[in-house]
Amino acid sequence: MTSSPASAGLSEPMREAGRRRTFAVISHPDAGKSTLTEALALHAKVISEAGAVHGKAGRRGTVSDWMEMEKARGISITSAALQFAYGDSVINLLDTPGHADFSEDTYRVLSAVDSAVMLLDAAKGLEPQTLKLFDVCRHRDIPVITFINKWDRPGREALQLCDELVERIGLQPMPLTWPVGEAGHFRGVLDRIGGGFIRYGRTSGGATAATEQRLDAGAAQAEEGDAWAQAVEEADLLSASGGEFDVARFFAATATPVLFGAAVLNFGVRHLLDLLVDLAPRPTPRVDVDGRSRHLDAPFSAFVFKVQTGMDPAHRDQIAFARVCSGVFDRGMVVTNATTGKPFATKYVQQVFGQQRSTVDRAFPGDVIGLVNATALRVGDTLYAGKPAVRFPGLPSFAPAHFAVARPADLGRSKQFRKGVEQLGAEGVVQVLLSDLRGDAAPVLAAVGPMQFEVATHRMGAEFNCPVRLDHLDYTAVRRLADPAQRSIVDGGRRSEVLTRADGAELALFADDMAMRVMQRQNPDLRLDPLVAEAV
Ligand code: GDP
Repeated sequence: MTSSPASAGLSEPMREAGRRRTFAVISHPDAGKSTLTEALALHAKVISEAGAVHGKAGRRGTVSDWMEMEKARGISITSAALQFAYGDSVINLLDTPGHADFSEDTYRVLSAVDSAVMLLDAAKGLEPQTLKLFDVCRHRDIPVITFINKWDRPGREALQLCDELVERIGLQPMPLTWPVGEAGHFRGVLDRIGGGFIRYGRTSGGATAATEQRLDAGAAQAEEGDAWAQAVEEADLLSASGGEFDVARFFAATATPVLFGAAVLNFGVRHLLDLLVDLAPRPTPRVDVDGRSRHLDAPFSAFVFKVQTGMDPAHRDQIAFARVCSGVFDRGMVVTNATTGKPFATKYVQQVFGQQRSTVDRAFPGDVIGLVNATALRVGDTLYAGKPAVRFPGLPSFAPAHFAVARPADLGRSKQFRKGVEQLGAEGVVQVLLSDLRGDAAPVLAAVGPMQFEVATHRMGAEFNCPVRLDHLDYTAVRRLADPAQRSIVDGGRRSEVLTRADGAELALFADDMAMRVMQRQNPDLRLDPLVAEAV
């Protein structure tokens, strides 16, 4: 860590990058992501103000600080990143929006993190949205830590949850802690690395960091009896089945450290923070389009992973969120937009939602900066300072799940229509799919989440002065057509067609899995590839 002699001779960006842990929580709605986020910040705040004793008032302070920040900035705190200090480290927690606003942005956030925490509800295990997000982590080789939440409530057995990881997603669990007391009777955890029993003490509603008491095995046996004996037995079973911790396998994203906890009671949260600090990957040099690594020490560079456009026409605000890849960012510096080659002034930059004012004007590799009114910036753009020029690969497109044909409400505005659709496609607001059969006048818009359509229709009307009509298409299964020569097979189906995306991908769309399977049975040579996150 920073104060260690090993970092003493390093440059500022290297030193600061070494302190950063930039991650996202991937979870299904209701698994407890907001609760965990708050618990992490609460815990970190207590620790970073060592010596200060926080009672309930301290907690209220934390929560209301956030709300004040939300109000002052007029934007949800969960819309981008939360930064806080933990000991000597700086934690950047990037949000992956869930619920109704699940969209391509949700996936793109994962291009800006160095690791992910997969949050599971102990009673539910792997759920659909978690699986979708995990797929992206797998494609991008993002190391994943698993936190099994809500252990204070009745749920599944711990071993069963671990088996599910292997069987459904091929990820070897490496539990670092093991629960003592079945779900619903959570006493604490067996510490598989440090040894012994860590007993958690409840504080009122998790208002402060949970108290922890460490007991050796003998004392744990004497006090917890059967619950301890069972935990020891199960932990032995894990050791026998390849569940020993191996950091190389974590980094290779083939195995996942597992922790058990209850975010609402702040149980297990310290372990998670410590794990992030001790083991999670720190920022590493990003590879540019020419295959060269941009050293962390090089002049400032960053890439835009999300652009948020205000829905209110009175405030045509647009914030571009960029992850710093190298060097030091100083507010006000003039950088170059690699896509256009044009200079870009960074006077209006927010260090997004940082808790500490001192970090507002400077940012380092791993941090997220929010560029306000950056209408010239697009998702995937690279910004850099000085020379040489650098450009990072654009962000991949993801498998869309919603499709709609767009048409101008007023046929006399077809020029504006074409321009607007092209622009929204280029910005990555929606994917634009075309085919000779449908023609340019009726493009198919495709999205990961339906909210992308709302943004697109709103902007077509407000910005391009061309209200549009969307007719939804009932396709639910999509694959990439491996061989363009086979296009006619899919186009010949009653409930299927092929559309071409701007990146050249030929997407085969089917009404449902059944229609796809039937076509494959009838055409055994038809080659359809799964589509998640294309390599860039
Ligand atoms: P999100 O949708 O993933 O952000 O989930 P929330 O953080 O809003 O949590 C969903 C519900 O689960 C809320 O009612 C929380 O109070 C509850 N919850 C979260 N963590 C825990 C936990 O550790 N134990 C229990 N019993 N409930 C929890």
